[in-house]
This record gives sequence, structure tokens and C-alpha cells, in this order.
Amino acid sequence: MSWFRSLIQRSSIRHPLKPSKATPSLSLLLSAEFSTGTEAAASREAGLGPTRPGDKARVVVLGSGWAGCRLMKGMDTKAYDVVCVSPRNHMVFTPLLASTCVGTLEFRSVAEPIGRIQPAISREPGSYFFLANCIGVDAQNHVVHCQTKTDGVGTLEPWNFNISYDKLVIAAGAEASTFGIKGVKEHAIFLREVYHAQEIRRKLLLNLMLSDVPGVTEEEKCRLLHCVVVGGGPTGVEFSGELSDFIMRDVHQRYAHVKDYIHVTLIEANEILSSFDDRLRRYATKQLTKSGVRLVRGIVKDVQPEKIVLTDGTDVPYGLLVWSTGVGPSPFVKNLEFPKAPGGRIGVDEWLRVPSVQDVFSIGDCCGFLESTGKPTLPALAQVAERQGKYLANLLNQIGKTGGGHANAAKDMELGKQFVYKHLGSMATVGRYKALVDLRQSKVTEYLLQEAKGLSMAGFPSWFIWRSAYLTRVVSWRNRFYVAINWATTFVFGRDISRI
Ligand SMILES: Cc1cc2nc3c(=O)[nH]c(=O)nc-3n(C[C@H](O)[C@H](O)[C@H](O)COP(=O)(O)OP(=O)(O)OC[C@H]3O[C@@H](n4cnc5c(N)ncnc54)[C@H](O)[C@@H]3O)c2cc1C
Repeated sequence: MSWFRSLIQRSSIRHPLKPSKATPSLSLLLSAEFSTGTEAAASREAGLGPTRPGDKARVVVLGSGWAGCRLMKGMDTKAYDVVCVSPRNHMVFTPLLASTCVGTLEFRSVAEPIGRIQPAISREPGSYFFLANCIGVDAQNHVVHCQTKTDGVGTLEPWNFNISYDKLVIAAGAEASTFGIKGVKEHAIFLREVYHAQEIRRKLLLNLMLSDVPGVTEEEKCRLLHCVVVGGGPTGVEFSGELSDFIMRDVHQRYAHVKDYIHVTLIEANEILSSFDDRLRRYATKQLTKSGVRLVRGIVKDVQPEKIVLTDGTDVPYGLLVWSTGVGPSPFVKNLEFPKAPGGRIGVDEWLRVPSVQDVFSIGDCCGFLESTGKPTLPALAQVAERQGKYLANLLNQIGKTGGGHANAAKDMELGKQFVYKHLGSMATVGRYKALVDLRQSKVTEYLLQEAKGLSMAGFPSWFIWRSAYLTRVVSWRNRFYVAINWATTFVFGRDISRI
């Protein structure tokens, strides 16, 4: 146990050093915490000033998603201080998020704290995580403007602060598309964050319980228990599959009084899973229909508190509405005055640099190749974001090692290998121990229409591959353990239906 004790001692010695080693500009920021009134307001203008010669160079990462977290994980913290700015302090393992909505997995199993992904952020004197949104980039002066995220803390008004960077990585992701349809933001629930999954689970269980209470009319019961999913992409299909599985395995047993009222409808304007092989699409349609999911071809015109209206005039009453129709650039990305790739994403060159300015890079769903590179815009996928994060970490480490880490120091540097993306395939589960695995190479982007080559398969073996693949991709051993335990518990005892 001596190794264990010395480990504890080491970690308890390190932490108190953090403030005393801080740079003067950082002390300004820290003092804000202890000030009051106007003094606090004045010092809240503070932030992190430029690094000095001899200091480690500073990489500022905007976002804690797949791209930003993979980048931070790979950063050489001997060469750089890493500062992450994001409105959430964890990474979400999105491929398993749908499973948390119905209790197959617990929420913590799909959330990985940033401090565990890059421990230097909690330990090193110059590395930080700031719970904030970036609201602007001054690329000329190497500064980002941020605003704190103080949701839920009634006593604190949000305040602004600035951070100087040597290298800036914009990995701020994308936003759910609503296509400007009225009422979507107000009444539908998106499925992108853990709090969305929590909201879906609470609403689903609430509706189940309310529909069992005396005094609810037949019509009201049908509405409360009608779950509508809009968008037949992989997320919409996986969520519908999870939901139908939950209904067949758990609702039928534990809410026997209302089991005949609960239904899932999946609304899609075109074909479901349009990026998958034809044969897999047909298989998914058959499986979903067999599990009781009603597939409706239609376009939503209006979303009202208790019903949606389709363009053909059909009214669809709902108790739970989940919106999953793809993503588009966020207002933050739209407002950045950088050249844009097709679709409004931040334009990058072959090394993922924003070419019009110095020391700014962009990765993940918020970026796309500039048309001048001749490369197509890559799809908004975790595997693209993750590989871009890994590539850029290596590139920045190499730049740091060769003396280009500080601002404007890598201007004429030879950067070496360009970023190349090779698609490894797509997977989606359709519930009831069935999944689709599409390992063909052709669907690299929506814009490439090459002939399909490679394997595609469906059924129980695919489901096994799907689970094994994601279990190995979960970021840490801790979460891998949680996921495995949750799956085993659900298999033996059924899903957790307590509404906490
Ligand atoms: C339910 C679901 C299932 C999915 N399943 C798959 C799958 O099976 N396979 C696959 O390949 N892909 C899948 N995806 C897509 C994949 O999750 C995304 O492509 C991936 O998350 C993109 O990574 P990112 O880092 O670019 O963005 P994100 O992971 O979205 O992260 C963006 C980060 O930026 C932060 N941010 C936003 N605005 C600001 C700001 N102004 N300042 C600072 N930070 C900001 C956000 O809080 C977040 O931390 C799925 C997505 C969802 C929602």
C-alpha cells in the first residue's frame, strides 16, 4: 500500500501549488472570486494575458466534445499549457446517449469529465477548464472573448473575460437544425446532451404514470403515450429502436394497464437511414415495423404544445416529441468572420488551419474543407471529429517541439503530412438485439457518389459487433466498466424505471 499512500501525498502536495505559481494575469482572474460589488465587476474584466518568452505556449481549446477532448488527450503538456473553454465540463459519448433515455444505461456512463481526459487541466499551474461560452475571436490580437455560464446559480450574473492564446483550436461542434419550423425549440426535445436525455426520460416516465391515474380520458391517454420522433437518421432510428425495446420488455410488464396505449411514430421526409446500404435500410424498416414503430413519410410544418402539423394537413398529437433532423452551424460559428466551407462551417485547409489568420485551427462538426483544397466537406460524425483531434494534437506537438509553439512562431514552418480521412464504416442499432453494420467505403460524404465497395450486414451478429465496438471506444476504463455493468444489470433485472 506504500505506492498508494505516496500517490495520495503527491496529489495533495501538487494542488496547493497551483495558485502560487500562477502568472500575474491569472491572479487577476482569481482575485475576482474573492471580491464583492463594483470591485468584483471591475476585476471580472480580467482573464489570461499573453504568455511571455520562457513560459510554456498556451493552446486554447473551444469545446469539450469528441474533437476537443481527443485533441486535449493527445497534447504534450510539457510543451503547452492547455486551457479549455466550454459550457460543459465533460465529454458526451454520443453513440450511447439514446440508451440513457430509457434507462438501459445510466447518464454517468456516457459522460467523461475533462479532468480525467487531460489530467494536466486539474494539476498544472497554467492549464485550466473554464465553464463558459466563447462569444468572439480577435484573431489579430490572439485573444478570445468568453462569457461565463452561470445557469442555475441565481446569485451570479454572467460576466465576460478574455484569454490570450498562442494557438487556438475551435472545436465548438454544431447545433440541431430546426429548418426554421415554428415551435420546435419551444416544444420538442433534442437529443444531443445528457440533460436532453434526462428530460426525455423524466417526461416519458411522467406520461406513463399520469396516464395510469384515474380521470384521464381515453383520448388524453393516447396522446400522453404517443412518442413521436422526427428525423430518420441513425440517431432517430436508434432512439426509436431503444424506445420500442423499452415498451416491449419493460412497459408491458410494469405498466400493464396502459401497455396498449403506448406507441412510437417515426416521421421522416425521405427514406430512413439514407446514408446506409439499400438492403440495410429495408432490414431496418422491417425490424422497426415488427417492433411496433409506425413509420410515417411526411414533412413537419408546425409544432404546437400538444400536436404537430404535417404539410399535408395531418395533425399528429404527441406526449413526447424528440427532434433529430441533423445539424447545422451554431450562431457562434455563423458570427465568426472567417471564410466558410460549403454548409456554413468554418473553412480549413489540408492541415486544419483557418488559412486567413495565424495560429487558428478548427476541427469537428464546426469545420469543413475550403473548396480551394479540392477536398469534400466531411460528414458530422464522431469518427471524423476524433481523428481530426488526434491528427491536430500530433501536429501541434510537432510544432511545439520545433520551437513554433508561441504566437506567430510557426508562420513559415513546414507542416508535413496533411489530414486524410478514411471512413471506417457506420453502425446503428434498431432495438431487440439487432443492428446494422455498413463497412462500405462509398458513403464518406453526402457529396461523394462513388460505387459502394465492402461489407454490409444486419441482425444479431451486427448487434454484437455494435456493442463490442462501442464498449472498446468508450473513453476510460471507469466508464467502460459502468457501461458493461449497466448492460448486464438491464439484461438481468430490466431497465430502471424510477423517476428521480
Ligand atoms: C445522439 C447522437 C448519436 C450519435 N451517434 C454517432 C455515432 O454512432 N457515430 C458517429 O460517428 N457519430 C455520431 N454522432 C455524431 C457525433 O456525436 C458528432 O459528430 C460529434 O460529437 C462531433 O464532435 P465535435 O467535437 O465536433 O462536437 P460536439 O461533440 O458536439 O462538441 C462540441 C463542444 O463545443 C461546446 N461548445 C458549443 N458552443 C461553444 C462555444 N461558443 N464556446 C465554447 N464551447 C462551445 C459544446 O458544449 C461541446 O462541448 C452522434 C450524435 C448524437 C447527438
